[in-house]
Amino acid sequence: MSQRTKIVAEIWGYRGWNVTSITYERSDGTPITPVGGFVSADVRVVIHVERRWTSRCAHCGAITGKVHERLGARRWRDLPWAGRVAEIEYAPVRVACTRCRTTGVERLAWADPYQRQTQRLQQHLALQAASMPVTHVAALNGLDWGTVHRAEHAALERWDKTRTPRRCATSGSTRSTWAAATSSRTTSSRS
Ligand SMILES: [Zn+2]
Repeated sequence: MSQRTKIVAEIWGYRGWNVTSITYERSDGTPITPVGGFVSADVRVVIHVERRWTSRCAHCGAITGKVHERLGARRWRDLPWAGRVAEIEYAPVRVACTRCRTTGVERLAWADPYQRQTQRLQQHLALQAASMPVTHVAALNGLDWGTVHRAEHAALERWDKTRTPRRCATSGSTRSTWAAATSSRTTSSRS
């Protein structure tokens, strides 16, 4: 790892993953080479990463080196870097877990299974959506309404799992008040 990618890996902040390279491209995917160490603000930053340690099963968390299938490179949108759209690129593997007998995509430090945004971007979008309409959050982040809504939902589900369920005396519901309130709010803001 070069000094440059080491610094980026430290800022990127996921233990157990190396940054192999950083590339820049226009929104249409055209590669851009920095001139004099400078790229314009509308350029997308792509952080290419690789796993340092043995892969884990996303389903049960078991460490498993058994590769069931190698998948092509995928991208996850991250929080903007200095105002630039940032994406993580990684080619994951499908692991054959001997503990839970599944063959799912390996556990990733930055995103939940089936998600195309990092957890921290989803959290950021959910917090924004708690104080403004989803359509405004979408416009602010250059995303469509459905993407923001799904990201918000994923962040709230993750947040809910960290809480001890409290049984509501009247309805018997164990949903958290924030999730319930946000769910009703987003539903009403959609109409
Ligand atoms: Zn497993």
